[in-house]
Amino acid sequence: MTPEEHQLFEQKIYAYVGREVFSSQPAPDRINEAMIRHWAEAMGDKNPAYQDAEWAEQSMRGRLIGPPAMMYCWNQEGITAATKRSSDALTDMCDLFDQHGYSGVLGTNVKQEYFKEAGMGDQVFVDMIIDTISEQKATARGIGYFFESLATFSDQHGEKIGTQRFRVLKFIPAEGANSTVSSDEEALETPTRIASPRGHDNGWWWEAADEGRMLIQRCTACQTLRHPPRPMCGECQSMDWDSIESTMQGEVLSFTEIHHPKVPGYPSPLICAVIKMDEGTNFVSNLRGCEARDASIGMRVSGVMEQVDDKTMLPQFYPATQEA
Ligand SMILES: [Zn+2]
Repeated sequence: MTPEEHQLFEQKIYAYVGREVFSSQPAPDRINEAMIRHWAEAMGDKNPAYQDAEWAEQSMRGRLIGPPAMMYCWNQEGITAATKRSSDALTDMCDLFDQHGYSGVLGTNVKQEYFKEAGMGDQVFVDMIIDTISEQKATARGIGYFFESLATFSDQHGEKIGTQRFRVLKFIPAEGANSTVSSDEEALETPTRIASPRGHDNGWWWEAADEGRMLIQRCTACQTLRHPPRPMCGECQSMDWDSIESTMQGEVLSFTEIHHPKVPGYPSPLICAVIKMDEGTNFVSNLRGCEARDASIGMRVSGVMEQVDDKTMLPQFYPATQEA
């Protein structure tokens, strides 16, 4: 783009700030037990306030509620959105980015705020605007712009349930990032993965992984195991814990094969799997040593700690028969 073309492009892009994407769009289904059951199962969320009617009646709320974090789910478009999505400000703006080479897309932050609980039979309505677009930034992924959409969720009485800010980077993908590797492959530096996030509550898990051990956090009050690491027991609310070392044996609870986008530092295609550990906790990892077509739900797997790049040790799982 010439400087003039670039200026014109930015004018067009910034004209989208404040534009409406959805206005009082009703969710196709009211808040219902079936969708909550699927969501809670996928999330491993056993909060009785969502599914145990008897418990909920005795609770301070006196009724079942929808999980607040599900707020955004109710208004999701189905699979048809992928093929025949109607034009709206957000789609049009992303098209404009794409046409000018900013075809890369990376969701970077989601921030939800909750104001009111919604219960069974309530209907969720969404309003959405494009709230901000940053100036042009040079990021590790390439040159691009961050934009933030702001969705506001209300119930059928017009009362605000919550909001969600979703931040996305639209960028020009680095040249050749997706090209097939040539015979110079060995000369190329291997990209590393994003460093593990080591906070106050989970740093200990990564430090054990560095030493080749896969630990599972255990509540010392009621012995319930939990993963990923967090400060409080979901069963008894105790904040006292220790850990056990996993046998790294388990079975595939679910899996998917990722072809696109390719993520630097990861093999492609990549099988991501939820492993149900024999200890009882679930663990998201990679399934290695087999093709996706040979993987199956319920398949026995066996894990090993592997150096996945020059600074990260991670459990990787293989079909159990290959391990023997
Ligand atoms: Zn406990």
